[in-house]
Amino acid sequence: MILVTGGSGLVGKHLNDILPNAVYISSKDYDLTDLQQVKDMMNEYKPNSVIHLAARVGGIVDNINHPVDYLEENVLMNTNVLKACHEFDVEKVIAILSTCIYPDVVETYPMKEEDLFNGPPTETNFSYGFAKRCMAAHIDSYRKQYNKKWSYLIPCNLYGEYDKYEEHHSHFVSALIKKIYEADDSLELWGTGKPLRQFMYGGDLARVIKHMLDNNIVGNFNVAPEWVHSINDLAEIGKKACLKDKLVVNYDNTKPDGQFRKDVDSSKLLSVLKDFKFTSLEEGIRKVYDNFSQRHNR
Ligand code: NAP
Repeated sequence: MILVTGGSGLVGKHLNDILPNAVYISSKDYDLTDLQQVKDMMNEYKPNSVIHLAARVGGIVDNINHPVDYLEENVLMNTNVLKACHEFDVEKVIAILSTCIYPDVVETYPMKEEDLFNGPPTETNFSYGFAKRCMAAHIDSYRKQYNKKWSYLIPCNLYGEYDKYEEHHSHFVSALIKKIYEADDSLELWGTGKPLRQFMYGGDLARVIKHMLDNNIVGNFNVAPEWVHSINDLAEIGKKACLKDKLVVNYDNTKPDGQFRKDVDSSKLLSVLKDFKFTSLEEGIRKVYDNFSQRHNR
């Protein structure tokens, strides 16, 4: 029996599309910051695999304004879920970190898994970063002390049909798609357009998780396509993919850029998932744009 926390989120919904027989849990079912509720959930389902996706996730502004909430909610959720997985003898655990918890700056890019603790995370998501790093240390410790076959994945920024599109919640590519859809002649983006980013279609992360489960793969892996683009390049790729080449992109450089770069190397993952192909940005953006257009019917 496979139990998925964060089942109502972007990644959870993509996973549900390809793994429909698992149980998908949202905060409305159980509040994972409460250990007793986590134990009740485990008692109810008695899973042998847990995919732990649930997290307090948000954009730069929300992270800056609520650092205590990001730290406490994530530490509590992650600690409770892992403790309960141990108590209920869950065989496989796959938990999700994020490339934005890597050090703010390192000497050599793209970053490898062993760079994770080589410097503090960027200031704008310091609390989220340390909460997630704590989960990495926790899983590594369970592997050392109890010989658990537990894993974590470190994915880059995601986008997909299931993203939230409200201004302060959506991720860059999803927000870009909405802006392209709504624009007549021009659109505005935050910052200078210079930071470098990797973006992955949410369904790709779901396929990686399923592949790890199906093939009993255990370990800690970066998950990101090999391409890295500036925000400005991404905007151009997005315009092209949505057949809106003529839109003018303006930058509001009074707004923060965020971390300059955080690109990671996925060669460790690709050495065990030999035939895995990431969805190209053009194809993924087009798919999400079409889905967005159908739902909004402009
Ligand atoms: P999301 O769409 O924001 O969904 C978050 C999920 O967590 C929802 O199902 C939410 O339930 C649940 N949740 C939040 N607080 C909870 C609580 N106290 N108790 C129980 N459930 C709670 O997140 P996502 O984008 O799918 O992200 C999935 C994982 O990938 C997260 O661990 C995130 O850190 C990581 N990640 C995401 C990205 C990205 O770009 N999206 C990139 C790298 C890593 P409700 O729906 O009921 O609120």
